[in-house]
Amino acid sequence: MTYSAFRILKEALTGHKGWGPQWRDPVPQPDYDYVIVGGGGHGLATAYYLASKFDQGRIAVLEKRWIGGGNVGRNTTIIRSNYLLDGNEPFYEFSLKLWEGLERDLNYNAMVSQRGVLNLVHTDAQRDSARRRGNAMILNGSDAELLDADGVRAMYPFLNFEDARFPIKGGLLQRRGGTARHDAVAWGYARGADRRGVDIIQNCEVTGFRIKDGKVLGVETSRGYIAADKVGVAVAGSSSRVMETAGMRLPIESHVLQAFVSEGLKPTISGVITYGAGHFYCSQSDKGGLVFGGDIDMYNSYAQRGNLPAVEDVMESGISLIPALGRVRLLRSWGGIMDMSMDGSPFIDRTHIEGLYFNGGWCYGGFKATPASGYCFAHLLATDRRHETATAYRLDRFRRGCMIDEKGQGAQPNLH
Ligand SMILES: Cc1cc2nc3c(=O)[nH]c(=O)nc-3n(C[C@H](O)[C@H](O)[C@H](O)COP(=O)(O)OP(=O)(O)OC[C@H]3O[C@@H](n4cnc5c(N)ncnc54)[C@H](O)[C@@H]3O)c2cc1C
Repeated sequence: MTYSAFRILKEALTGHKGWGPQWRDPVPQPDYDYVIVGGGGHGLATAYYLASKFDQGRIAVLEKRWIGGGNVGRNTTIIRSNYLLDGNEPFYEFSLKLWEGLERDLNYNAMVSQRGVLNLVHTDAQRDSARRRGNAMILNGSDAELLDADGVRAMYPFLNFEDARFPIKGGLLQRRGGTARHDAVAWGYARGADRRGVDIIQNCEVTGFRIKDGKVLGVETSRGYIAADKVGVAVAGSSSRVMETAGMRLPIESHVLQAFVSEGLKPTISGVITYGAGHFYCSQSDKGGLVFGGDIDMYNSYAQRGNLPAVEDVMESGISLIPALGRVRLLRSWGGIMDMSMDGSPFIDRTHIEGLYFNGGWCYGGFKATPASGYCFAHLLATDRRHETATAYRLDRFRRGCMIDEKGQGAQPNLH
């Protein structure tokens, strides 16, 4: 399926009867050069970059359900590169640069919208920390602006400035940050990979690995055994369960994170706002709904739905920041399974089993990482070397004492 202005015109004049599926529905082959486990954003991007940038062999993506059914289609769509630490900022900036060229690269409208991400500050100490973060971003070739309270008021006059327990004192703005249409990202990568010969196999659950003499030979699946020279696992919230079948215990916990959408409103919030005195982030979709979220549910779970205490907590934070939210009706909410790592940073690494590679631990922030994660994982799979922006994402970093503790909260996923 290809798109062009001519094609759109032709379909418009002929009743839109000629659009076909965006990717094939192939039968799994007995063996591949590369098998990617997990058809979320990261798995699909990995397959796409393997096929397009590294031009590597026969590739399959195995997805236990359907494309876009995991976190890639459940997130609040925020993309940004406003990180502090050396292990993170170059990687997320690389990702943002890939986002900037993504639609041209894929020839697909992923609705990438650089509408600005504003992190509010409410104390002098937070302002110092925002200034430090902004400087680190600029030193890494990214963009950052520190706004005072008047600067924030000019952008968002409806925020709770004075009559608040934590008055707004300013904010760190990244104008190149913004949002992207999450499921279109999955579809765009899937179509791009399919067109380069990648087999995208849905309803195919990986149930185990065949390993001999310390080397992976292939994967056991609900549709039979599939041999592979190299296997890359990118299953996000299911990381611990899947890697357990290879005998590995990961520094990852799974928690539910909920997201919320309000009824459609006239244009109100032009960019993304994050609250600095509570955990709340909000933007407005092109359809008009306010899209927002907050903390994870504070218990371990593999369910894709959450509980009411987290709903109440998010609403409280939202209304304390934007009192007018109290008049808005909530339309729907849902949950996704988060792979929370113990220092809040991800993994893109080899495992101790030859030919088996792991990508996960994305916590709250894996959507924005999708392009770079796919690129760097493809780089690792194809060359056996880490990409220069992802050298710190090692599985042994806790043993080596080289954590990337971006939030300074240590091994507490509930605080990330
Ligand atoms: C509510 C919510 C809001 C979020 N908001 C943001 C945000 O605003 N910005 C941001 O950057 N990040 C955000 N995130 C995080 C981000 O969505 C995730 O970190 C990222 O999508 C995870 O990578 P993925 O897309 O590959 O995951 P997924 O889409 O979950 O892909 C993993 C896939 O693996 C499949 N799978 C699992 N087990 C198996 C198996 N045994 N065999 C085969 N397939 C298997 C699953 O079915 C799934 O499709 C949010 C997440 C949630 C839940």
